[in-house]
Amino acid sequence: MIAEEMIIACCTDLAGKVRGKAFPASQFEKRLRRGIGWTPTNVQITCFDAIGESPFGALGDLVLIPDQSARVRVDFDDGQPVEHFALGDIRHTDGRPWELCTRSILKAALDRLEKVTGLTLLGAFEHEFQLRDVPAPRGEAYTAAGFRTERRLAETLIAAMREAGLEPDTFMKEYGGGQYEVTMGPSRGVSIADHSTILREILHATAGRFDRKITFTPIRDPAGVGNGVHIHLSFLDGDKPATYDAAGKHGLSAVAGQFVAGVLRYLDSIVALTAPSAVSYLRLTPHRWSAAFNNLGFRDREASVRICPVSDLSDIAKAAQFNFEFRAADAAASPHLQLAAIIHAGVQGIEEGLQTPEATAEDLSLLDSAALAARGYVRLPQSLREALERFAGNTTVAGWFPEGFTDVYVKHKMAELAVLEGKATDEICGLYEQVY
Ligand code: GLU
Ligand code: MG
Repeated sequence: MIAEEMIIACCTDLAGKVRGKAFPASQFEKRLRRGIGWTPTNVQITCFDAIGESPFGALGDLVLIPDQSARVRVDFDDGQPVEHFALGDIRHTDGRPWELCTRSILKAALDRLEKVTGLTLLGAFEHEFQLRDVPAPRGEAYTAAGFRTERRLAETLIAAMREAGLEPDTFMKEYGGGQYEVTMGPSRGVSIADHSTILREILHATAGRFDRKITFTPIRDPAGVGNGVHIHLSFLDGDKPATYDAAGKHGLSAVAGQFVAGVLRYLDSIVALTAPSAVSYLRLTPHRWSAAFNNLGFRDREASVRICPVSDLSDIAKAAQFNFEFRAADAAASPHLQLAAIIHAGVQGIEEGLQTPEATAEDLSLLDSAALAARGYVRLPQSLREALERFAGNTTVAGWFPEGFTDVYVKHKMAELAVLEGKATDEICGLYEQVY
């Protein structure tokens, strides 16, 4: 049958979806300047398709300009169409970045980091997901057998990641039923979030080639484990690692310690962006190895920010291995918005001259709120509604984003919640696992 290859120009949006338009791949050069037409109210399309209250109505026109450096072409060589897309930025027709463009919001946050510290951000997203089309075999947690069950899918994914410009790292059978985890090598700046987006798309595409269905939903069943996103971050001063200081508290350099302190100080107000679904708050509960408090963990998996281990055995120098991971995140969010919120909170901590926090190695859920407060901890919001209230109520946080962003975001999320009104938890979980 005849066919002409097409490419999708796309970007992540407030729903954490990747939306865009396709055109013949032969027109890519032309579209690099011209872009594709985009509609402002699209930003209010929720993950369940219901459209939130929009300040734009039927008015306005934007352009989505694909970025050559975020172009992905993967030929699976299986007789099916080539996977071809390019992430891009949404702009006003006069070229200004659009206030609701997640990638432009991230670029502004990275500019702030660079201006305040002179440092470059290095990082990688680590993803957990579950196969949802098979009854999950028992007894496979972390096993070779569990890997073997999906070896074909894993090996195709690794090849696709490499073709897409991602650096494959590990693939393993995680603890949960049908749950796997995939990690990749770090990249710099905006590509940290681009690579997370590309991984999510490539993984869905790979599963599709095998007629399989996967989900990144934050949690499928409150009695089981969640699917977390762990955002690994470190800093570079030119090409030199700038996160480690042997003399610093927990090995953190002064600037990295202040950054982490800022992230934790503002965490309860940004979690609406980093863990943005109704079911995200079923996952952010104690004893799940996720995150329930604004604490720093030194190799502790029940912490919102964890200092990751370094090994003396590695061929990579300690300072270059050293990184921390943000764990109060999931794949219902736009990676660009997640990263932007974390960077702003961190830079705010640097500007405020905060001190490197103490690390916890205890069960904070055993402390009452007075005891928590005495030590400077808060329980993270326990519902999306509560998270949105803290986000909208924090004027410092609102000030990091373009004019009007907070209001549109809250309205978007309220429309998502309206779809779930009156539904039982299992039905809500079922809806989310279909859309992520
Ligand atoms: N599945 C856990 C989560 O929801 C994370 C487990 C781990 O430490 O890898 O975040
Ligand atoms: Mg894991």
